[in-house]
Amino acid sequence: MLSIENEKRIEEWIEAHKNEFIADLSKIIAVPSVATPGVAEGEYPFGVESANVLAAAKELVEGYGFPVKNLENYCLVANVGEGEEKIGIFGHLDVVPCGNDWNYPPYQLTVEGDLLIGRGILDDKGPLWASIYAVRCLKELDLLPKREIEIFMGGQEECGMNDVEYYIEKSEKLPEASFTPDGNYPLCHGEKGGLRFYLAVPCNDAKIVDFSGGTVRNVVADKCTATLKDVCAKCLAEKLACNERISVETDGDLVKVTANGASVHASIPENGINAIGVLANALLDAKVFEGEAKAAMEFLALVNSDYNGAALGVPVEDEPSGKLTHVGGVINYDRGLLDLSIDIRYPVTEKGDVLLEKIIETVEPYGVTVHDVVNTNPAYAPADSELVRTCMKVIHSVFRRDHWKPYTMGGGTYAKHLPNACALGPEDPDYENPFGLFRGSIHQADEHTPAKLLFDTMLVYAKLLVELDDIDVTK
Ligand SMILES: [Zn+2]
Repeated sequence: MLSIENEKRIEEWIEAHKNEFIADLSKIIAVPSVATPGVAEGEYPFGVESANVLAAAKELVEGYGFPVKNLENYCLVANVGEGEEKIGIFGHLDVVPCGNDWNYPPYQLTVEGDLLIGRGILDDKGPLWASIYAVRCLKELDLLPKREIEIFMGGQEECGMNDVEYYIEKSEKLPEASFTPDGNYPLCHGEKGGLRFYLAVPCNDAKIVDFSGGTVRNVVADKCTATLKDVCAKCLAEKLACNERISVETDGDLVKVTANGASVHASIPENGINAIGVLANALLDAKVFEGEAKAAMEFLALVNSDYNGAALGVPVEDEPSGKLTHVGGVINYDRGLLDLSIDIRYPVTEKGDVLLEKIIETVEPYGVTVHDVVNTNPAYAPADSELVRTCMKVIHSVFRRDHWKPYTMGGGTYAKHLPNACALGPEDPDYENPFGLFRGSIHQADEHTPAKLLFDTMLVYAKLLVELDDIDVTK
C-alpha cells in the first residue's frame, strides 16, 4: 500500500514537473502523426509521420532514463524496473486527420488558461504522456513497484491496430495485466468480442445481372441495388410505388431497383435501416422471383431486418454487456451466389467459436455457407475482480465521483487485443465541453482538455502501479 507520506511525495513531484510535462508533450503534439492504413512495405509501415512521432517520443523517453526499443517503426516499447511479472501501459501516438475546421493550430500545443488544445491532446498523446510521467515519477522517487512496467507506444491505433498485433507477434511474454489510457473514466472492464464472416447465399436466376450494396463491413448498408433483365419496369414501378425507400429506373434493357437505408456504425445498428433488407423485402412484395432466388431474398430479408442475432440463431445477451448485435454490411453477386458480409459484436461472457457453430447450423437449411471467419475474443474482467476493485479504489481516491461505475462497450481499444486488459481513463464523462457538441472532443476540431485532467490521470496511474503490488492481478 502507498503510504500517506509517499502519496504526498508523488503529488509534489507532479506539481514540480507540470511545466516540463507540457513542454515535452508539445514536441509530440507538433508531429502531424496521421498513420496510413494497412501495412506499407519498407521502412515506414504506417507512413513517415507515424515514424517521426515514434522517433520524437523515443528521444524524450530515453531522456527519462528508460531503455526504449523501436519495433521497425510499428511501435515503441519501454521497459522500466524489474520483476517476474509485468504490467503493461498501452497508448498510441498516431492521430486522426485534423480536417479544415480548427480555430486553433491543430499541430501546436496551445495553452489557454487551464485548457490544453491540439490534435491528440486527449486521444491519445496527452494521456499516454501522463502515464509515462507517472512511471518516471515512481522511478525518480524510488517507488517503482515489484513488477516490471512495459510501456507500449503505438503508431497505428486509429486505422488498423497493426502496431499492437506486431508487438504481440514479437513479444516473448505479454504483461499479466494491462491498461490503456484511451477510454472514458472510470474504466471499461469489458469490450465485446467480434465475429466477422461472409455468408454465401445460392441465388441462381437468369433475371439477376447484379446485386450489390453497402460500402464497408462495419457499417449498416445504406444503399443496395438489384440490376435485373427480362422484367417489366413499369409493372415493378407500379407495384413498389408506395415504398418510399425504393426507386426503379431503366438502363437500356435493364431495370435497376435501388433501396435507400440509413447507415450507422455496427456497434449501434438499431439506429440504422439496412438497405439490403429493404430491397429484399421489396422484391418479395413485387413477386419478382420464384424458387432459389425467392428463398435467397427471404433469407436476406430475415438476416437484415433484425440486429440482435435472432435470424442467425444467436440471440444472446448477458448482464455485463447486453445484447449481441449483428449487421449485414456489404453484398455482392457473382455467378449465382450472393456474398453478404456480417459483423457481429458479441457479449463479453460468450465464446466466438460456440456462436459460430450455432450460426453455421442455423443457415445450413437455406443452403447458405459461412466463409472467411475472423474472431476477436472479448476483453473482460468481472466488476468484482481484485483488479477492477483496486482500479476503482484508486480512481475514486483521486476524482471522488461516487457515481462512477465500471462499464462495458462494443469494443475498440487496444485492450481487446491483450490478456487481462482494460481501458482506464482519461475522458471525464461529467465534463461540460465549453466548445459545444461538435467541437473540442476527440476526433473533432479543437480537440482539448483541461490540464488538470491529465495531471489527475498522472496521479491515478502512479498510485495504481504501486497499489497493484498488494494484489494478484490475474484474479
Ligand atoms: Zn485513441
